[in-house]
Amino acid sequence: MSAGSELRHDDPAAQPLEDREEGLRVCHANPERGLGVETLVARRAGEVIHRFTGDIGPELLLHTLQVGPDAHISNTRFIGFLLHSCAPNCRLDMATFELVALEDVRAGGLLTIDYAATEDRLYRQFACHCGAPHCRRWITGRAEPVNAEGREWLALGEASWGEGS
Ligand SMILES: [Zn+2]
Repeated sequence: MSAGSELRHDDPAAQPLEDREEGLRVCHANPERGLGVETLVARRAGEVIHRFTGDIGPELLLHTLQVGPDAHISNTRFIGFLLHSCAPNCRLDMATFELVALEDVRAGGLLTIDYAATEDRLYRQFACHCGAPHCRRWITGRAEPVNAEGREWLALGEASWGEGS
């Protein structure tokens, strides 16, 4: 546990957070997507990657996740930093508080979840560039409509459809 001296839970700016026992690391995924979580070891589909804990309260914040109606978990070590994908390789089980692999993930791979699978509303809706064939392109919670910015974004995307990349 000598690496523990490098971990500073009180200061989010002190990322990345790495835990070799858990085999997880908070990393800078890329400039567009910000922080993400990568697995340091290969994972198998169905594997419980991580059991999470945190503080549960009524507040919806940037890095909280919804664990029940009006109940959000904060101060988690890793799951608050998971990136969204419309075709995620992981899911969160909010009954057992487990992060479960949906498919095999190589060592060094980014772990992703579908935010709409757990969140009724998002702290902030956002444009998605996950690259999945069925990417929804604008991500909302499961119980909220696309906001004005999203409607604009989606309309813009249809106009510039086929620009490639
Ligand atoms: Zn997407």
